[in-house]
Amino acid sequence: MRILVIADIHANLHALESVLKDAKDTYDVLWCLGDLVGYGPYPNECLQIVQSLPEFICISGNHDYATVAKMDLSTFNPIAYQALHWTKNELSTESYNFLEKIESTVYTNDVTLVHGSPNNPLWEYITDTNVANQNFTNVRGKLCLVGHTHIPRIFSHDGIQCNEISVNTTQSINLFERQYILNPGSVGQPRDHNPLAAYGILDLTKHTWEQRRVAYDIRATQDQMMIEQLPEELMIRLSFGM
Ligand code: ZN
Repeated sequence: MRILVIADIHANLHALESVLKDAKDTYDVLWCLGDLVGYGPYPNECLQIVQSLPEFICISGNHDYATVAKMDLSTFNPIAYQALHWTKNELSTESYNFLEKIESTVYTNDVTLVHGSPNNPLWEYITDTNVANQNFTNVRGKLCLVGHTHIPRIFSHDGIQCNEISVNTTQSINLFERQYILNPGSVGQPRDHNPLAAYGILDLTKHTWEQRRVAYDIRATQDQMMIEQLPEELMIRLSFGM
């Protein structure tokens, strides 16, 4: 089984469409690791597309959760807060109901799916080997897929120590023997100084992970953000992938 793994779409329709076009015919099912909404100008459109894909599994990210939960949005920085406020008003009833019912952790096919980390599925960022190491004990099964940092990362654990493996888009990596925490990076708001949309292909038959990047019409997303009067900083960062 080949799985298209995406995370942090952040309501960026043009990025999502480019990823789906690029990955076309190379996957059987879709797993989405949360933050479908927040920051971007197309929350309903992105939610509709994800729900139309074959055998999709979708978990909640902190932005998804905050949009539908009765929580204080002031825990977010002022720019994220402004975009979340806009998203809340924009969501259709169908979109709201969908975001309200998705889980924050899913375990399937021997793989743990969370947005942040196994220890704190909605909020913790796995930014380095120390944090990854603390989380490996709570990885159910051999693999864990995460998003949230918007940066493609691969951490492995051999039972003794945790290592980071450099991400390479030209060669797939073999997932044998060790445990892995894999982050495909962000579809709709990459933050690794590379503006291309990021995603991964997990092959559970061959036990491989492929990291991929694809260009999309950044300008079209920025133009729509301008129309919706979303914060300028959020538009600018898309050009630089930061
Ligand atoms: Zn995010």
